[in-house]
Amino acid sequence: MIEPWLTFLSVWALTYALVFGSYLAFGWAFTVWARGRGERKIQPRRDGLKRRDAEIRASARSLVVTCACFAGGLTLATYGVRLFDAASLSWWSAPLMFAASVVLFDAWFYAVHRLAHTAPFKRWHLLHHQSVAPTVWSNYSDTAFDAFTQQGYFLAMPLLTPFPVEVFVVHRVFDHFNGMIGHSGYEVAAGPASRAPWPLASVTFHDMHHATFSTNYANHFSFWDRVFGTIHPDYDRRMAVWEAPAAAPAEALRGRSHS
Ligand SMILES: [Zn+2]
Ligand SMILES: [Zn+2]
Repeated sequence: MIEPWLTFLSVWALTYALVFGSYLAFGWAFTVWARGRGERKIQPRRDGLKRRDAEIRASARSLVVTCACFAGGLTLATYGVRLFDAASLSWWSAPLMFAASVVLFDAWFYAVHRLAHTAPFKRWHLLHHQSVAPTVWSNYSDTAFDAFTQQGYFLAMPLLTPFPVEVFVVHRVFDHFNGMIGHSGYEVAAGPASRAPWPLASVTFHDMHHATFSTNYANHFSFWDRVFGTIHPDYDRRMAVWEAPAAAPAEALRGRSHS
């Protein structure tokens, strides 16, 4: 019985070192890259970086929970605590299961995130919303409640799906960088796929959630927000503006909905 615990503690410690280490390294690299790219800034009149140190401290705490969820799911599934046998990985099944996991996570995230905005739970979500203009440092700046409900996906799904643990490892790496870029405050994903009728979410999508508080709850896709009517009414238009910056004074159009 001691071996699963040793595995869990080892994976937990290793994951924490890798995630927090790459958070610091990528955050620093992105900050350097972003210098001189002010034209991509989504909220040019707000300085989100003034919260950087507080966000790094909050991330150091909440990542303990995030990494425990991941290590717990991986350890339990590895020791056979799972509903289904793990499906085999092949050139076609691996990307298919990865895509299915991303779609599933988006639905999970939408549900728990909307729950976090309701009266009994809101107080544990407000820390994340202290970042009104999020930056690359904001992704993990949240409470243990946020970390457990959102990242609990990586604890539960290895036990409830036939996806092998490798799928969740790749998905967690993707979620790590996607989450940091998604909070960066710089639009790098503008294009027709990021607005109606396509379902991909851009950086502006979650940035608007921070700026307005009560729209755009999903993570990877705008699908669930469109279905439940929680998408920001100005989202598609603002994405169109990013695609044609020469056609209109972009800063004026961008700033209109949250100034
Ligand atoms: Zn929120
Ligand atoms: Zn956020």
